Amino acid sequence: MAESYSVAVRTLCEFTAKAGDLDLRFTPSPSALEGMAGHAVVASRRGPDYEREIALSGEVGQLRVRGRADGYDPERNQLEEVKTFRGDLERMPANHRALHWAQAKVYGALLCRERNLSEIRLALVYFDIVTQREHILSEVHEADSLEVFFLDQCQRFLAWAGQERNHRQVRDQALGELRFPYPTFRCGQRVLAETVYKAASTGRCLMAQAPTGIGKTLGTLFPLLKAMPGQGLDRVFFLAAKTPGRQLALQGLSTLTAPQPDRTGVPLRVLELTARDKACEHPDKACHGDSCPLASGFYDRLPEARQAAVECGALDRTALRDVALAHGICPYYLGQEMARWSDVVIGDYHYYFDVHAMLYALTVTNQWRVGVLVDEAHNLVDRARGMYTAQLDQAAVKAVSREAPSALSKALTRVDRQWRVLNGEQAGQDADATPSRDNGYRVLEEPPTKLLTALQQAVAAITDYLAEQPDGLDGALQTFYFEAMQLCRIAETFGSHSLCDLSLRSGRRGSRLSTLCLRNVVPAGFLAPRFEASHTSVLFSATFSPELYYRDLLGLPAQSVWMETPSPFSSEQVTLKIVDHVSTRYADRATSLEPIAELIARQYTALPGNYLVFLSSFEYLDQVAERFQARYPEILCWQQARRMDEAARQGFLERFTAQGQGIGFAVLGGAFGEGIDLPGDRLIGAFIATLGLPQLNPVNEKFRQRLAAQFGAGYEYAYLYPGLQKVIQAAGRVIRTEQDRGVIMLIDDRFAQPRIRRLLPGWWSAAPSPR
Ligand code: SF4
Repeated sequence: MAESYSVAVRTLCEFTAKAGDLDLRFTPSPSALEGMAGHAVVASRRGPDYEREIALSGEVGQLRVRGRADGYDPERNQLEEVKTFRGDLERMPANHRALHWAQAKVYGALLCRERNLSEIRLALVYFDIVTQREHILSEVHEADSLEVFFLDQCQRFLAWAGQERNHRQVRDQALGELRFPYPTFRCGQRVLAETVYKAASTGRCLMAQAPTGIGKTLGTLFPLLKAMPGQGLDRVFFLAAKTPGRQLALQGLSTLTAPQPDRTGVPLRVLELTARDKACEHPDKACHGDSCPLASGFYDRLPEARQAAVECGALDRTALRDVALAHGICPYYLGQEMARWSDVVIGDYHYYFDVHAMLYALTVTNQWRVGVLVDEAHNLVDRARGMYTAQLDQAAVKAVSREAPSALSKALTRVDRQWRVLNGEQAGQDADATPSRDNGYRVLEEPPTKLLTALQQAVAAITDYLAEQPDGLDGALQTFYFEAMQLCRIAETFGSHSLCDLSLRSGRRGSRLSTLCLRNVVPAGFLAPRFEASHTSVLFSATFSPELYYRDLLGLPAQSVWMETPSPFSSEQVTLKIVDHVSTRYADRATSLEPIAELIARQYTALPGNYLVFLSSFEYLDQVAERFQARYPEILCWQQARRMDEAARQGFLERFTAQGQGIGFAVLGGAFGEGIDLPGDRLIGAFIATLGLPQLNPVNEKFRQRLAAQFGAGYEYAYLYPGLQKVIQAAGRVIRTEQDRGVIMLIDDRFAQPRIRRLLPGWWSAAPSPR
C-alpha cells in the first residue's frame, strides 16, 4: 500500500475477533453515562500513579492502529480494559469475552512496544453498575507473544485495508471529476450548490432555506460529494425525517454515479438504513442463535457477506436483503455492519442524533471526518425533542405486575408503591381524593428520585430475568422494560432543557393513576456535540426561518452560515388572498363554519379544479366539511380520516387527478401538509383556515414559559413559529413547478397583522381580502 490506512483498535478487533452467533441476550448494556461513571469509580479505586485513557498507536506495514487503553497501573504493570455491565456475567456470550481479550491484547502489544516492556499483566475489569463490584480476569503475557497476536490481527485485516484504501483512491479520483448530471442547474440550485461546497471547504455548518422545486437533494449531494476528496471526508450521511426524502436521495445518488457516454460510473458505496421492524425476517423470534436462524453463525458468515455487499456498490433495502439472505444472515444487522464500510449512508435522523445514534458513535470511535446532510431540517426540532423525551404510564406497571413472573413481582410492586406515594404527594390531598380535570397536571422541580430508583431496580431485575429467557420477554413486559429503561436514561440528563411532569387522572374505584414524563423542550445541548463532531453539516428546508429560532433550538455552532436561495417562482404564479373578517380561534369556530364554506364554494365556482382545505383539528375538519357538503352537495368532497394507512393515504392523493374537480379536506401538520407533490392542475389552490398554533394546554404553556426564560420569545418559539411553519409548508403544495398557477387563501384575521405577514414568503403577494 502506498499510503497508510488508519484503523481504531476496536474496529480492528471487531473485524478479526468476532465469531459465532449474533447474541443480544446480554444487552442492553449500561448507558453511556453509566459506563463513564463506572470507569470513573474503577479509576478512583486505583493508586495515585494510575494512568487513564492512554493514547496508543502502532504501525504494521501501511496499517496504522490507534486507540485509547482504559487504564494502566505502573506499579503492578497491569493494563486494564474496563467493561461495565449489568446482569449475570456468567451469561456473557463467549464471543463477547473473546473480543474483549483481543482488545486488551492489542493495547498490551502497543504499550509494550511504546514503553519497551518485556511482559505485562492484562486485566479485563468487569464492573457491575448495580452492585459496583469488580470482577477481574487477568493474565500475564510476554511482549513477544502479544506482538505475534497483534501482527496476526493486522495480517488478517491487511487485505481488507488494502481493498479499502484502493477503493478510497478510485472513489476520490472519480468524485474529483464528478460533473453535474444535467446540462444546467435549476434556478437557485447553482447558488445552493456553490454555498454547500464553500461550507464543506471551510468546515462550516450551513443552514439553507431553499424553496421546493429547485432540486435541493441533488443541489446538496452533488457539491458535498465533489468536496469529499479535497476535504478528506470519509463519509457522507444523508439524514431524512421521512421515507420520500430517503428515496429522493437514493435516486439522486443513482443519477450522479451512473456511467456517462464519456466516463465510467462513480464507484460509490451507498447504504440505505432500514428500521429493525421493517428489515427483520423473523419478527416472531429473538436476536440470538438459539432462536433466529439468521443470527446463528452470523459472525462466521459475515466476512463473505461483507465482501459481497461492498462489491454491490449501492445497497438499498432490497439489495441489502438479497445479499444478507444469500449468505444466511440477518439483513438488519448486516446493514449495521455495512455502515462501517459505506461512503454515503442514508437513514432517518435518529441514526445520528438520538441517544443511541449509531452513526455518531461510529464517527467518534473511528475519528471519521464526516459531512452531514439534514433533509427537511425544520422537522429536526420536534423529532429531536421526541428523541430526548421519555414517558411511562402507571397503568403499564399495574398491567405487567399482574402477569409478571414471580422473580419480578417484588421489584414491580416497589415501583407501584413509590408511584402511589408520588401521586399522593402531588395531589397534595387525601389519597382517596379524585383529581379534577384541570388540576391533574403537575410540573415537578426534578425527577422523583425514589420512583426512579425503584424503576432502575426493576430494570435490573428484568435484565437478569431476560438473560434466562431464550425467547425473550412477552410483548407488554418488553414494552414496559424499554420504556422504563428509556425513562431512567433520560432522567440522568435532566436539566433546564427539560420538564418533568406528572399527569394525574382518576382510576377505577376512586384510585388515582398518573403518567410520568420527562419532556425535552430545548434539544440544543444534545445536538450540539453531533454538529461539532461533523466536519460540515448542511441543514436544508423550504421553511427554515426565522434563523435564530432554529439556531437556538438546534444548538448549531456560532459560526454557522445561513442562506436563502431565491425562489424560482414569481408572484404572478400565486394569488394570495388573506381573509381578515373570519376568526378561527376556538371560541369563534361555530360562527366561522358558514363563511369558510362560502369562501371555498365561491372560489371553486369562479375557478373549478382541485383544492385542499386545511383545518387545525379533525373535529374542526368534520364540522367544516359537514357544513360544506350540506350547503354544496353538488361539489365533490373527500376528507382525511383519523388513522389512515399507507393505502388509504395513497387513495386520498389519487383523487387529485389532472383536470379533476373537487375539494379534499385535511388537517394542518398531518400527512398531507408537507412532503406531497401534486403538480400542475392536480392542485390549483389551498385554503388554510388556521394559524397552525399548537393547542393551548398546560404542557404548551410550560414550554412557552421555559422558552421565554431562555430566549425571551416564549409565544413566538412555542406557538407562532411552529404554527406558521406548518401554514407555509401546506401552502407550498400549490406551486410545485415554474408552470404552476394557483390560489392560496389564508383564512383568519391574524394573517393580516404585519408581524405575521412579515413571516410569510416574500414572493407571495396579496390580493384584496375577499368578503
Ligand atoms: S432476522 Fe429479526 S430476529 Fe433474526 S436476528 Fe434479524 S432482527 Fe433479530
